Amino acid sequence: MLAGGWTDRDLGCGDVRRYVDAAGLLHFGGSVALTVETFTALAHKYTKQPDLFAVSIRAKNLVMRVRGFCCGWLTADIGGLIEGESGRIRAPIPAYLIEHAGSTLVFDAGLHPDVRDVHSARHRSLAPDFDCDLPKGTDLSERLEACDVDPASIELLALSHLHFDHTGGSGLVGNAELVIQRTEWLAAVADVDGQTYMPADLDIERSLHLLDGEWDVFGDGRVRLLPTAGHTAGHQSLLVRTDDGGELLLCGDACYLRRSLQTLALPPHAFDRDAQLEVFERLRRLESAGARLLFGHDPEQWPDGPDDDRLVELSGAVL
Ligand SMILES: [Zn+2]
Repeated sequence: MLAGGWTDRDLGCGDVRRYVDAAGLLHFGGSVALTVETFTALAHKYTKQPDLFAVSIRAKNLVMRVRGFCCGWLTADIGGLIEGESGRIRAPIPAYLIEHAGSTLVFDAGLHPDVRDVHSARHRSLAPDFDCDLPKGTDLSERLEACDVDPASIELLALSHLHFDHTGGSGLVGNAELVIQRTEWLAAVADVDGQTYMPADLDIERSLHLLDGEWDVFGDGRVRLLPTAGHTAGHQSLLVRTDDGGELLLCGDACYLRRSLQTLALPPHAFDRDAQLEVFERLRRLESAGARLLFGHDPEQWPDGPDDDRLVELSGAVL
């Protein structure tokens, strides 16, 4: 009997040497390690063909991998991020690729490629307040291709919220089901004048998975969407437990900058300021408990552009 109640027969690994290490990871022939939860999730997928399952694990290196990259930068008045401050900030727009249990999830989509065209309606509508920069090689599809991932193969696209700098690249992963909090979707659809959202970003024909609270994306507790409303009506953040047992919290705009969290400095515009302050307190508690926080637009956490094409490995695969 192995960890988690699995037997050699269940594993169906033939001649592959396997063992459980001190951290509780299952090793397959020394090349791949999985937590018991991940293995269980995978086994359910392949349960009728255990031999094929074992081969698939080895062939596909089905381990948790999280990569982050910037899908554009916005230069704007810093007073829009921290109330009362003056000056300009060049803010990165991060997006993330999570590969886990044989599936792919993208969290946030960055800027729409149209912002590159100064004559486009999208560029003109944003130009008074934002200087949008989306260098060649940095839109969502180009970032994914740099990860050797076909944008058309992405299965899930979870958006923290529906502001233009998080949803603009959604169409570049057009086969992915959109995962969003129901309250966020309803608020955006109701904003027909585009006061808060950009109506052109909303694809009402798209395959939608509307959430009413927390959601365990892969059913094994490793990747969870957490409601963090306050910045917008239905904002959500993504909590990832990596193979080494660490936690990453992809905040989205629940908090723009590390400095915001340190000083509890809210932006001037929020859907619900009290709720956002409560979210700040939750983020502080998660960080105190050991989670690594990645903020919504913090220039100190990301390589600077405009020509920087680095991808940031946030969670190394256990090999
Ligand atoms: Zn944003």
